[in-house]
Amino acid sequence: MQSCSTSNETGIRTEGPEVVSFSALPFSLTDVKLLEGPFLHATELNVNTLLGYKPDRLLAKFYIEAGMKPKAEHYMGWENEMLAGHSLGHYLSACSMMYQTTGDDRFLERINYIVEELGSLQEADGDGYIGAFTNGKKIFEEEVAKGNIRSQGFDLNGIWSPFYTHHKVLAGLRDAYQLCGNQKALEVEKRFSGWIEGIVTPLNDGQVQNMLRCEYGGISETFADLYADTNDEKYLTLAEIFYQKSFLDSLKAGKDVLPGKHANTNIPKLIALSRIYELAGDVSSRKASEFFWDRVVNHHSYVTGGNCNNEYFGPADKLRNRLGEGTTESCNVYNMLKLSEHLFTWEGSPEVADFYERALFNHILATQNPVNGHVVYNLSLDMGGFKEFQDPEWFTCCIGTGMENHSKYGRNIYYHSDNELYIFQYIASELAWKDKGLKIVQRTDYPGEQGSTLEFTCENPASLAVKVRYPSWAENGIEVLVNGKGKRVRQDPGSFVTIERKWKTGDILEVKLPFSLRLELMPDDSSRVAVMYGPLVLAGDLGPLTDSASKDPMYVPVLMTENRDPSAWLMPVEGKLNTFMTVKTGRPRDVEMKPFYTIYDRRYSVYWDLFNESGWNAREAEYKAELERITKIKEATIDF
Ligand SMILES: [Zn+2]
Repeated sequence: MQSCSTSNETGIRTEGPEVVSFSALPFSLTDVKLLEGPFLHATELNVNTLLGYKPDRLLAKFYIEAGMKPKAEHYMGWENEMLAGHSLGHYLSACSMMYQTTGDDRFLERINYIVEELGSLQEADGDGYIGAFTNGKKIFEEEVAKGNIRSQGFDLNGIWSPFYTHHKVLAGLRDAYQLCGNQKALEVEKRFSGWIEGIVTPLNDGQVQNMLRCEYGGISETFADLYADTNDEKYLTLAEIFYQKSFLDSLKAGKDVLPGKHANTNIPKLIALSRIYELAGDVSSRKASEFFWDRVVNHHSYVTGGNCNNEYFGPADKLRNRLGEGTTESCNVYNMLKLSEHLFTWEGSPEVADFYERALFNHILATQNPVNGHVVYNLSLDMGGFKEFQDPEWFTCCIGTGMENHSKYGRNIYYHSDNELYIFQYIASELAWKDKGLKIVQRTDYPGEQGSTLEFTCENPASLAVKVRYPSWAENGIEVLVNGKGKRVRQDPGSFVTIERKWKTGDILEVKLPFSLRLELMPDDSSRVAVMYGPLVLAGDLGPLTDSASKDPMYVPVLMTENRDPSAWLMPVEGKLNTFMTVKTGRPRDVEMKPFYTIYDRRYSVYWDLFNESGWNAREAEYKAELERITKIKEATIDF
């Protein structure tokens, strides 16, 4: 395997087969315990959701496909279609992460049970295959392996994105092995990967590229990981087969080919490429991942950190007219955060950490109903729309990624190198850094509190550079205090502030991060704006879901002001956290704005149109006509 060195020669090396060096590495989920706050709450809701599922029901279609009697009725939704099986993969991953997060043996029991069942089914098959969608093995062996390939966006020889499903199952087995030490999971994963190798290896390059026209998820990520777990290079070779040249070569050449492309088909290809870069060292793969990340984050994303309308990327920096109930599929953000994790380990970039915060607080946390734990598919940015929570037993892709999203918060609060500790996110938690004999308790109500306090307990005094994130939104500065004494901060927002000292038990590091109100503008319309408060997207609470006024074209008020500093027209609402009321600005009415993640079962708007009096007088008729046209389209497409 060819590998070339990277510019990052000073970084740290892993003990694994990675050939590149890293700036920072994550901790294990077992090293970080969440403390009271919105993320612990979201995790606890997800514990209930995960324990509510019946493994035998998730396994049912695998039994049917193996010609055996299932032990329970299968689930509905996409589990009743040709994508059957993907949810079991997500479930294995989510339970593996949740086992590490909580230490609750009930998750381990479920993982061990499912792996045993899959192992038995694979044994009965004899060739290594495991699958839940109809005729999968037959179609692959008799058609695809022989080069008889009929493919388009989501269809490979009549099967709905089969490699997408295989990826999820393989990822679940990987996680059961890596996170829960289930050796059998590794064996099942190897045999199944071997079967896939037998299908794709005989194909010539043209046939492979034809096959890859159909969505294939991030399947090469799992083959790359399998190489890392086994040191067997054949899996890295297999990973490199799943490389769609037309798309990935364009990114390597620095071309934004995203417009018109399906997001969740394509983001995982870059996650896979990132992992292959780490194991094979091809710098052009890294560049493609970084280029893609920058395009999505800075040219195709909304203020929440979400991207896409009706699942597809549009033209770069054209978002104004792409607001609706089909905006920002949750899987896209799940995958962008996975990609961000790779990028952060390479460079320790504060821009990546800031995006992570934006998407975590304003998309991921916002996708979960804070009462029953149900999650959304698309997180609607429709002006006057609402969050549509899914039936957890009617499976979709976003139910699957939703199971994982709320199982792994502890993985992205801290990162480290040999002698540096990154405070990546402000989330109440306890870190046990075993190699250093160090425990850190981060106490904060953030974002209810505008700062955080970290308390150190050290077996021995530890020389360490603690890197405190100074968010790009913190335009009023940041204060950093060690044992009550302020440290001079020389950096600008959008950086890490480094505090280097010998840390000892009882040391206290305080970070004060004053929030301020600001507008973020649509790239293609500076008069269509969102209101931010520190890291938080504020949404206007417009009324109940059944609000009869919601059909009124002016249901979403316009904001009538010349002043682009929202602190001039937003007043804090007493007794309500991070909540503001517009003052004589909303027309036809003022509106209460609160953190988007806290809103559920209400109609809201994240974006607002800003006018001054003369502009309104000139455009009122045209604006209302446009709103009426949109309202009519919505009524005509109610079943979208
Ligand atoms: Zn999805």
